[in-house]
Amino acid sequence: MTDFMPDLMFDETSFMSRGACVSHDPKYFDTSTRDGVTTMTGSVMIDGRRIPRRNAISYARMICMSCPVQAACLDYITRHPSETSIWAGLLPEERNDAA
Ligand code: SF4
Repeated sequence: MTDFMPDLMFDETSFMSRGACVSHDPKYFDTSTRDGVTTMTGSVMIDGRRIPRRNAISYARMICMSCPVQAACLDYITRHPSETSIWAGLLPEERNDAA
């Protein structure tokens, strides 16, 4: 019985708790405006400091590049294309281009 691991038991989000991003402010990964449009402009407030969004996104990409579960993250986000923000080091439009 224990050898039987049906696909229904697979939790496709289990990788998330092992992601390098869990110890960082999610705002680094946020690329959307209030109306859901992806933007590289403007700024974000993180840890009491206002930083250019472009810098925040670059930092998020660096975090993803060192992430031990990046492949699982990319696999997940490929199956959930409507998600916004940086996933697996890619912007939403970059993921669409890669698909
Ligand atoms: S690849 Fe990036 S977004 Fe995905 S789990 Fe790792 S750190 Fe988080």
